[in-house]
Amino acid sequence: MTIQRPRSEQLYAEALEHIVGGVNSPSRSFKAVGGGAPVFMKRAQGAHFWDVDDNRYIDYLCAYGPIITGHAHPHITEAITRAAANGTLYGTPTELEITLARMLKEAIPSMDKVRFVNSGTEAVMTTIRVARAYTKRSKIIKFAGCYHGHSDLVLVAAGSGPSTLGIPDSAGVPVSIANEVITVPFNDLEALSVALETFGDDVAAVMVEPIVGNFGMVMPEPGFLEGLCRMTREAGALVIYDEVISAFRFHYGSAQTYSAFPDHAATRPDLTALGKIIGGGLPIGAYGGRKHVMEQVAPLGPAYQAGTMAGNPASISAGIACLEVLQQPGVYERMDAQAIELASALQGSADKHGIPLTINRIRGSFSAHFCDHPVTNYDEAQDTDGERFAEFFRLMLDQGICLAPSKYEAWFLTTAHTSEDIAATIAAAERAFAQMAR
Ligand code: PMP
Repeated sequence: MTIQRPRSEQLYAEALEHIVGGVNSPSRSFKAVGGGAPVFMKRAQGAHFWDVDDNRYIDYLCAYGPIITGHAHPHITEAITRAAANGTLYGTPTELEITLARMLKEAIPSMDKVRFVNSGTEAVMTTIRVARAYTKRSKIIKFAGCYHGHSDLVLVAAGSGPSTLGIPDSAGVPVSIANEVITVPFNDLEALSVALETFGDDVAAVMVEPIVGNFGMVMPEPGFLEGLCRMTREAGALVIYDEVISAFRFHYGSAQTYSAFPDHAATRPDLTALGKIIGGGLPIGAYGGRKHVMEQVAPLGPAYQAGTMAGNPASISAGIACLEVLQQPGVYERMDAQAIELASALQGSADKHGIPLTINRIRGSFSAHFCDHPVTNYDEAQDTDGERFAEFFRLMLDQGICLAPSKYEAWFLTTAHTSEDIAATIAAAERAFAQMAR
């Protein structure tokens, strides 16, 4: 049985008239999976979506990460309702901000001081400004395939090697800005060392997703983060972790406090950028780090950053409520168990039908790459079969399973997925792989 979506098609045609590309973020378009109308959703509850044609879907997109407790979780909804009833925006400090800042600091001890902003993009962008202000240097080293939002500096792709400067990845990013960025392959300490040798005295910061979520889920190889932190410090630069996806995704804490990196002192960043989960589904971002570094920020220091909406009571209340849900015992273990079951069934099904599939699972989330080689860096993630992914994506969508429309995005489990959801997804995937093998 294939789901029909006439109303989504109608709305997409209408949206194209008014909204550029019909979507308010390019990742929502179906361009990477053969085009056509994206699904217009009208309601979400728990692990499920309903579209405008009243079709139901099991959600693994989870809004690209923030929805870890499922949609409309009663504890979060109640917190948002309470905040709305008390006024949504004050332009003054509130006690709520202190509560969430405390919760973040307790979970991520490298953050002595925190500042709330409105998105992951803003958080990352500001960490770069703060690092530049602190070091009085201007260049940034980043890793190919890591996404850090849409600010100018991080929309720069690799030059032809670690000792070359970047080229703009988007029209509108000046070459002069791309000249401030060096891109090296993830998991490649040698390339980082060449980049630091070449540009070391000018480098303000090395920016990394310590566990990658943007070219699939990719773990750093043993020693990579330790080496990165050591080499960066030796060069007099700061380490910035972009934990917009990874914070609170794998455990109650962030990648820098994850048990896979037991030597926390050796993998501790100077600055951390946060977003997504910490807002419980409302717009948020935050950054924080060492006291001396954070004291660069206005009103204490010369690095300016501000926000009319920053720290608004609704986002902060939703964030506190979301973290409270995640503090409950067994929450992460349950997501892990479901991800293990789902990922191993997908692998088994693909193997049975002779379809090469590499699954990178990190606790309750994973990425499924159509290839027969490991995926440990962006080149390997690119070298996967996008057409196969597109076919799989559509076969799943037509059976009511909602994945992100890109071969690079992860599947996210939530506290709301049930064993019935997992079983239904496994059955749908088996039918999809069987069809693809024909
Ligand atoms: N950093 C990372 C690691 C991200 O995954 C994203 C968003 N996908 C961002 C930054 C940007 O966050 P936002 O979309 O909230 O601006």
